[in-house]
Formats: sequence, C-alpha cells, structure tokens
Amino acid sequence: MDNNVLLSIKNISKTYNGIPAIQALKDVNLDIMQGEVISLLGVNGAGKTTLSSIIATLHPPTSGDILYHGKSIYKDVINYRRIIGFCPQKPNIDAMLTIKENLMFAGRYFNMPYNLIEKKTDELLERFQLTKYANAQGAILSGGYKQRFMLARTLMHDPKLIILDEPTVALDPHIRRNLWDIIKTLKKNGTTILLTTHYLEEAEVLSDRVCILDSGVIKLIDSPENLKKDFRETNLEEVFIKFMQESKTRTA
Ligand code: ATP
Repeated sequence: MDNNVLLSIKNISKTYNGIPAIQALKDVNLDIMQGEVISLLGVNGAGKTTLSSIIATLHPPTSGDILYHGKSIYKDVINYRRIIGFCPQKPNIDAMLTIKENLMFAGRYFNMPYNLIEKKTDELLERFQLTKYANAQGAILSGGYKQRFMLARTLMHDPKLIILDEPTVALDPHIRRNLWDIIKTLKKNGTTILLTTHYLEEAEVLSDRVCILDSGVIKLIDSPENLKKDFRETNLEEVFIKFMQESKTRTA
C-alpha cells in the first residue's frame, strides 16, 4: 500500500431501500492521500453527500469497505471518529447553548481534558473571529458566522481528515474567500480535506484533485490543471460543463 494513502474507499455501494429503491453509489473506489484537498463534484443527485456521509460514518454502505491506514474503519468506528471532523451542509448549532458552550460541548464529546477544551475553545473563537459572540446563543448568528462556527467546531479535536459538505453555500463573496483562506491554512498545516461543492471556482482554487461523480459512479479524478489541459479549457467550470455534455451524448 502507498504510505501516503490516508483513506482507501473500496468498492463502496449504497442502495436506499424505498419504493423505488435508489442505488446512490455503485462500486466506488477512491484513495484519499494524506494532506491533499480533494473535491467531490457532480450534478444534483450524483451521490456526493451519500459518499461524504458514509466516509463520516453517518450511515453504513450497503457493501464495500473503507480502510484507514490499511485497516477497516468499521472494526473501530469510535477511534476512527476521533481522527475525522465532519461539517454538514446545514448548520446544527445547539440554539440553547452559547457559542462558547457549543464548542466546549464538542470537546467533551471527544473526551478532551478540560484545560485543553478551554485552550482550544479560546483559540478557535479568536481564529474564526467569533470572540465577540462567545456568550451569545447560537440562534442569533448570521448565516456566514454560523458557517464559521461550524468549521471551528469541526476543528475542536484536531482531526486529521475534515469532511466539508458544501461549506460556503449562500455565503457572501467576502466570507466565502475568508473560508477559502482558512481551508488553505489547514492544508498548509497538513490537514487532509474532502470537500463537496457546487462552486467550480472554489474547487479549482482549493483542490489538489477533483473527483467527478455521475449517477453514483466516479467518472473522472485528476488535478484541475490536468483536466483543463485535457479538455482544452481555461477553467474548471467549462471542463465540468463539457464533461457533462459529453457524458449525456455518450449515454443518449
Ligand atoms: P446534491 O448535489 O443535490 O446535494 P448529491 O450529489 O449530494 O446531490 P445525494 O444526496 O448523495 O446526491 O443523492 C444521491 C441519490 O440518492 C439521489 O437519487 C437521491 O435522491 C438519493 N437519496 C439520497 N438520500 C436519500 C435517502 N435518505 N433516502 C432515499 N434516497 C436518497
């Protein structure tokens, strides 16, 4: 096994039982490399959230396995959860607790020692410019500040892999750029990041590799630079549109 592989997704399939049953992922294989930013792209319903939430252990796959440093995560889910941080699409802040209490609660959840919880809480409040809201209830934050809080909480236990599901949806351009800078700094510090996004510019700026999913299947994985070269386009958005058009023609 390549030593740089952090997570190996092996033959993951997922069927949601219902009428009709929906096969959201079909035999997905993907290696996530240590320290990279990898983005999941695809049209609505392609399977991005299903894949990222399986990696976050929110629900199990129907079949397949995920290996962390070569060992199945399902043999020790508790310890695996300590090394990941998941930032869901919709902010889920406890409205009854203050922002500071919300962060401290996350530290307790991960069984961190009290003095470390206090230290990390202050550090994150400062870093995400949330100090002025430390004693305010979660409910009063604007969308952009909620998103900052979500990212701060994801980092409470210093995860090795962070999974961000559309972290900049509905944010103004200024706050979006601000979150990009935070993501770039995390990457510089060696954190591995799995990003789901519909913003192609965001994927292009942040990613080492992008992975295009279509109907539950990985269709393309490469660096934005290589994809632009291969498709003879100047930006990732044009690559994506061209790829989806070609894909439609192929299946027509
Ligand atoms: P979007 O860009 O719209 O967020 P996505 O690429 O994240 O889409 P998923 O949300 O993973 O796609 O959905 C993949 C497929 O699985 C879709 O056909 C969707 O309708 C279906 N699906 C997702 N969640 C469930 C569920 N809980 N029960 C049944 N079907 C589901």
